[in-house]
Amino acid sequence: MPAQQPLVERMRGFGTTIFAEMSALAVATDSVNLGQGFPDTDGPAELLAAAAQAIRDGVNQYPPGPGIPALREAISDHQRACYGLDYDPDREVLVTAGATEAIAAALMALAGPGDEVLLVEPYYDSYAACVALAGARRRVVTLRRDGPGWLLDPAEVEAAVGPDTKVLVLNTPHNPTGAMLGADVLAALADVAVRHDLTVVSDEVYEHLLFDGRAHTPIATLPGMRERTVTISSAGKTFSVTGWKIGWVCAPPALLAAVRTVKQFLTYVNGAPFQPAIAAVLPRAAELAPAPALQAQRDRLCAGLAELGYDVVVPQATYFATVDLGAGADAADFCRELPHRAGVVAIPSSVFHDSPAGDGHVRFAFCKRPAVLDEALNRLGKVERRTS
Ligand code: PMP
Ligand code: GLN
Repeated sequence: MPAQQPLVERMRGFGTTIFAEMSALAVATDSVNLGQGFPDTDGPAELLAAAAQAIRDGVNQYPPGPGIPALREAISDHQRACYGLDYDPDREVLVTAGATEAIAAALMALAGPGDEVLLVEPYYDSYAACVALAGARRRVVTLRRDGPGWLLDPAEVEAAVGPDTKVLVLNTPHNPTGAMLGADVLAALADVAVRHDLTVVSDEVYEHLLFDGRAHTPIATLPGMRERTVTISSAGKTFSVTGWKIGWVCAPPALLAAVRTVKQFLTYVNGAPFQPAIAAVLPRAAELAPAPALQAQRDRLCAGLAELGYDVVVPQATYFATVDLGAGADAADFCRELPHRAGVVAIPSSVFHDSPAGDGHVRFAFCKRPAVLDEALNRLGKVERRTS
């Protein structure tokens, strides 16, 4: 007899990801898709050519489990050149199937039944799903709207730490808000992690998509943090190749070995021809990343939305800006109706929350060509501005 509910209990409630749902809605309604965060322009031509050449050269079979040595060395060099962090390419670097697999492997390696994982809401959707897959519990603290930006209170983080808390997941620059944790907040969070002996999983996939001359600080650079931090990043955002799914982990040997143990049984390996291509361009990540173009696109979208009367929270980094529809608004209803009303797709940030703090927040992606952003603004300008 077929089971009534075949999905294992701990995964119920996850359904279809908001990105898949909204991208399908964009296609069905012929909408401008400012939902799922993927660029509509290609990455550097030399990177694409290097991958094509690797395929022609026969780099098409399983790469080594931890990633090809050239890429692990390039990742190690990148952490040293950009941040002064030293990681041994053999014992402290692991190549993964995107940051997504790195997150899954890290959470499943480091937390299990009875353990608690602290997330900052709004959180990237896979964090909660991976905590559930690990059989652990999540607890959230809120990144709150604070005038023109966002604020995480380290005292709230500390108050949420309990006897079972094993891992704190951080994400800076942050999806969906585009906020960057300031030096004072990072230092206070590092202090909390050290005093409570937490492992920090630090998702830094937007490390090179920074605006207005800002600089990224990995939490692993702070005193006492290298030995307790699993740093995660990915080539997808830096080089505009989100479909290649080449990510990585840097961590001290014991933590790296734990993550690698789980990773082996998720994908085992991936992306053989993409790995040497990324290795070749990673030394020029800061120069090749599309931050200047994205900053102009951010300004275009944010100014346009503000002109239409929306309350826009301008991001410091990433692909995303937030519109605050105000107290009592329902971002989920707003986003489900918007494609039908206006032919534009956005993401309700409320789905990244456990609490109602994000109920009125809508995420618009601006990693799109200026003409696409203009078309979205034009369409939004033709309909009445409703809050839900
Ligand atoms: N973390 C964050 C914060 C993200 O926004 C994303 C996707 N954009 C990922 C992880 C996943 O990265 P990847 O595509 O490399 O798996
Ligand atoms: N990270 C992308 C975003 O936030 C989407 C990735 C995905 O579809 N899982 O929009």
